[in-house]
Amino acid sequence: MSDLRKNIKRVFSIFALLFVLLLGYFLKFIFIDSQAVVTNASNPRISVLDEKIVRGEIKDANGLTLAYSESQGDATVRQYVYGPMYAHVVGYADRGKYGAESKYNFELQKMHFPLLQRLKNVVSGDDLAGNAIVLTLDHTVQKKAYELLGSQKGGIVVMEPATGKILAMVSYPAFDPNTINQQFSVLREDESSPLFNRAAQGGYPPGSVFKMITTAAGALFSDVEADFIYHCQGSAVYENKRIRCFNETAHGEVDLKRAIALSCNCYFAELIYRMGEEPLIAAADRFYFDKSLQYPLEYNTGSFALAPGATVSEQN
Ligand SMILES: [Zn+2]
Repeated sequence: MSDLRKNIKRVFSIFALLFVLLLGYFLKFIFIDSQAVVTNASNPRISVLDEKIVRGEIKDANGLTLAYSESQGDATVRQYVYGPMYAHVVGYADRGKYGAESKYNFELQKMHFPLLQRLKNVVSGDDLAGNAIVLTLDHTVQKKAYELLGSQKGGIVVMEPATGKILAMVSYPAFDPNTINQQFSVLREDESSPLFNRAAQGGYPPGSVFKMITTAAGALFSDVEADFIYHCQGSAVYENKRIRCFNETAHGEVDLKRAIALSCNCYFAELIYRMGEEPLIAAADRFYFDKSLQYPLEYNTGSFALAPGATVSEQN
């Protein structure tokens, strides 16, 4: 009799243990594995559902929609609200991918809370939406830059100095990403390279913008008196090369402030002459010349090649 009771107890314990294991597995599936199963690309049941995931929106820094997907009959069509204004940053998702559409393709096609979003979808019947991505571009600044550039070949970049955030980036000639599919071969053959982002991928001599780097070099890396006064006569000779101010205008007495305001080439030649090339090389390094940038889209690095002992005119 006691043997029977012992056996019943043993069988009961085994069943209890199995029950706990089963419960544990079930809970683990619900809370841990379900996400992986739902998002698993090789799950055929899910891939049927996945076709219903609508590509996420691309927004500006204030949440303004720049690109979204719209159902037109059986197909979804990507809409670019501002056409060419954002063409080179937002990019396109047809005919290959470019810009943010390319870089964040995976995010745009993925859901953040797959299980919750699918449940909501079952209840509401709405389309499943991929993640939205938010750019640092600010529409007000972007629009202004776009208008200012107009139909001049080139690019404009506006950055927030404290963070390096890109507030605006435009390039011209541009294209309308809404019609990229129809226009692609024409655009690709176009000799003015409208598909190319001049603002981030073009290589141009910086011109007088470089005076700011020369100024920083003087302030950060040299002992040259920052407040020397230079008497500009419109041109000056350094190491047998004549440096000229624009139109050979004699700017007269200039200090650093006035030299920047007037873009006086002779003042800056004098500054470089006084401090030598090492500070300039150090400053160029700090301004990311020859370095990779923390910019996620397509770009080319700026190059600053200055052989030690280069002449002042080369540096200018
Ligand atoms: Zn001058």
